[in-house]
Amino acid sequence: MNVLIVGAGPAAVGAALGLVADSEVRVTILDVGARLGDANEHARERVAASDPAHWLPSDLGLIATPPVASDVRGLPEKRSFGSEYPFGDFGQLGGIFADGQVNRAVISGAYGGFSNVWGAQVMPFTSKTFEGWPVAAHVMYPHYAAVLREIPFAAEEDDLGELFPLLESSSPLPKLSERTEAVLARYAENRAAVRRRGVTVGRARLAFAADRCIRCGLCLTGCPYQLIYSAAQTLDRLRREGRVTYYGGLLALRVGESESGATVSARELRTGRVQSFDADRVLLACGGIGSSRLALTSLERFNTRVPVAESAQFMLPFASRIPVTSPLLTNDFTLNQFNIVVDVNGEGHDLSQLHFYTFDPAFINALPRPLARARLHGVRTALLRRISVALGYLPSWASPSFDLVLSAPRDAGSLAETRIESTPGSLRRHPMMRDVLTRLAAVAPRLDMWPLLPALQPSAPGKSYHWGAVFPHSERPSGQLASDIFGRVAPWERIHLVDASVFPNVPATTFTLTVMANAHRIARGIVEVLA
Ligand SMILES: Cc1cc2nc3c(=O)[nH]c(=O)nc-3n(C[C@H](O)[C@H](O)[C@H](O)COP(=O)(O)OP(=O)(O)OC[C@H]3O[C@@H](n4cnc5c(N)ncnc54)[C@H](O)[C@@H]3O)c2cc1C
Ligand code: SF4
Repeated sequence: MNVLIVGAGPAAVGAALGLVADSEVRVTILDVGARLGDANEHARERVAASDPAHWLPSDLGLIATPPVASDVRGLPEKRSFGSEYPFGDFGQLGGIFADGQVNRAVISGAYGGFSNVWGAQVMPFTSKTFEGWPVAAHVMYPHYAAVLREIPFAAEEDDLGELFPLLESSSPLPKLSERTEAVLARYAENRAAVRRRGVTVGRARLAFAADRCIRCGLCLTGCPYQLIYSAAQTLDRLRREGRVTYYGGLLALRVGESESGATVSARELRTGRVQSFDADRVLLACGGIGSSRLALTSLERFNTRVPVAESAQFMLPFASRIPVTSPLLTNDFTLNQFNIVVDVNGEGHDLSQLHFYTFDPAFINALPRPLARARLHGVRTALLRRISVALGYLPSWASPSFDLVLSAPRDAGSLAETRIESTPGSLRRHPMMRDVLTRLAAVAPRLDMWPLLPALQPSAPGKSYHWGAVFPHSERPSGQLASDIFGRVAPWERIHLVDASVFPNVPATTFTLTVMANAHRIARGIVEVLA
């Protein structure tokens, strides 16, 4: 069987892993395929090859650049080794217009997709979540495990395991920061009282090779040793082993079916030439919005509002009364260090998850401007010794979101023009947000983590990168915006959407591991059930 995957991010990797397990399947990947430029890649290689004491300021100046102010509300936009290529427009964002309130950079054109800049947090969804899906938790678990065997996995058993089983063997995290250890110790002392409020605290779970981490603190600008997992790492391996064939520089424009197979037409980005590729089956893995746009363009669903479900993001700083050693004097890794999960009805379904960062150099830039003055150095340090920052999420059913509105493309060489429009609703005023904040405030004295409520900052729609559910999986799909459990949208039989575009909804808990596991499940279903 010949299978064509469109896209080269985590969903494509999940699907490819499921397909190459069968030697009868030949896998080809088509992808926009943008990569880090040579100058930045060479600087990364020089840094990786030398001792930190000998790192050249010019190399660090190139690859360790801070995030850049975003056009829309929310966090600044990360860079990968100094480059914007995971967010850049290589043709895939052409014809996309956002209404000014919404993030426009919703489709990556990078080899590896957004996993080149992700925070590497990995957790399954809760079993309760799957009660609302047509796919049960016990069906998903082997697919999570298959993905976890492929990626580096640093995680430890703790209370989060009750809702989020580890599912595979893992390695320990590196030494945690002093603040993280302090919060975990206070949680252990006050566990019963904190749990009574529906609050659980646990260590981060991360897709990175923790055993080789030297705690140099460059995580958020790109690990020079490439210890942080990216989908590109698995694709490199599968290509080296001859198990997938990869073609970059191609923008898929339309998909369609014939009696015996499926076809993708794609524009060669260098020449503008449109080519056609045939296969027995085609899998769309262009990211939740990329695949939806490609499917909607091909199905000619124009001039109608198509809702996207998003798990909305917020940023919330926390202060502690008891200071730790200045983070400027210690060496820590700067990925997520610990998580707080708030379960508002105690059933493991309506959850908010907060990922805590106890320090990153970007904190200094985010402090009020007057504190940058040299003579206020003492005040600045006093703050850094007490401040942590959480990135939190609400589930899609408690979040404002956005719609896609497509209009007929200009010509056969373009995707449909797509307007991204925010929908009414306020994260700040949502009853679940208030409930979560009340619970966090209630446990603050126990954990010595005081939420700075006036500083709550909801991100703009589209900024969470946790969205999808345009064609939700359904046992018996009806209507135009639904897919069967193999990601097929009527009238297609041989075209499968395999990324978050087919999630039934988007919980607030860590997202991409489920994208990969679900793509793996669909791929195994193609080989074992549909072939
Ligand atoms: C800053 C940041 C931090 C994040 N942190 C986390 C985290 O810690 N944990 C977590 O779970 N998630 C995180 N995410 C989200 C995560 O990165 C995404 O969920 C994940 O990358 C989605 O994978 P995907 O394969 O579906 O799509 P993508 O990663 O978007 O990949 C899409 C692929 O499709 C290709 N493509 C797109 N359109 C076309 C086309 N028309 N033709 C051909 N190829 C095309 C692209 O080149 C790319 O290879 C983060 C995202 C960002 C931006
Ligand atoms: S601290 Fe971050 S950047 Fe440094 S080695 Fe560890 S993972 Fe890589």
